[in-house]
Amino acid sequence: MAIDRFGRRIHYLRISLTDHCNLRCIYCMPEDVTFRPMAELMQDDEIIRLVNLFARLGFDKFRLTGGEPTVRSGIVELVREMRRVPGVRALSMTTNGVLFSRLAEPLARAGLERVNFSLDTLDPARFRQLTRKGSIGDVWAGIQAAEDAGLLPIKVNTVVARGYSDEEIVDMARLTFEHPWQVRFIELMPFAGATEFQTSQVVSADELITRIEAALGGLEPVNGGKLDGEARIFRLAGSRGTIGFINTITQPFCSTCTRARLTADGRLRLCLLCEDEVDLLTPIRSGASDGELRRLVVDGIWRKPWGNRLQEGHIPLNRIMSEIGG
Ligand code: SAM
Repeated sequence: MAIDRFGRRIHYLRISLTDHCNLRCIYCMPEDVTFRPMAELMQDDEIIRLVNLFARLGFDKFRLTGGEPTVRSGIVELVREMRRVPGVRALSMTTNGVLFSRLAEPLARAGLERVNFSLDTLDPARFRQLTRKGSIGDVWAGIQAAEDAGLLPIKVNTVVARGYSDEEIVDMARLTFEHPWQVRFIELMPFAGATEFQTSQVVSADELITRIEAALGGLEPVNGGKLDGEARIFRLAGSRGTIGFINTITQPFCSTCTRARLTADGRLRLCLLCEDEVDLLTPIRSGASDGELRRLVVDGIWRKPWGNRLQEGHIPLNRIMSEIGG
């Protein structure tokens, strides 16, 4: 079992399959981003070896992210292989949805269980402005395909940036009247690459709640107000879906953290918003045994930081978001 020095049991691994992405969201990466050469990224056999190792340490929940996980070639086969690893209980993905319409069915058959779609706006022009590249119609087709393939429940993640997506939060919340989705509003977090935007355009979840309630009526806590993963969940009267708030900045949930992350280049990232990492890929490529890798992971998890130091003004600048995967 992997336990940190504060007694938190860490059993949820988020794996960034690639730093490459088919979008260039303005709050995520610079427009002229340079992606890593493929040889520097974890290869399929290296990922499967690590998934085995983490599963033997009691990790049972895995999420594939990126960059954009669907741009990785062989993604369906990789999901199938992961699903075969003993101990992998839950396997899900976070995607921008652009390529998902043709992948939903094969991924579901390969054993993927659920998908979170990232969608910050309902307006095609604003979508293009925010993503610098994409077409919103592709995302809708991806969500529809995921529903048809039974990848349920659908979650939609909306990063709220003032002057951009914040103007549409009421419309995003309104989606839950029509669809049995969980629409989750995420506070903007600071990393390298787009730090100025990320720190100047934050909108707090409290402000969102006030604005949504003023327009659509009261938000009733679901779950007795307890956290569902990292989200606080609410429901509007008469809605089919729910609304979540991920308040990483204004109400951090570090005490209940169960997560670790693998960056696309094979570093164990101990906290999303801290720079501390353990290099696993270099030892793998230098012939480390499973026992040696296990020791690196166990020791790393043990020294997982309690939480981020954003309040003290410390911003993790060693990575852009797309290398870590959120
Ligand atoms: N490409 C995939 C996607 O769009 O879902 C997976 C990777 S993306 C980095 C994962 C999530 O991080 C997305 O929901 C994205 O909107 C969110 N994200 C990116 N930069 C962020 C930031 N600075 N603060 C908060 N969330 C961010």
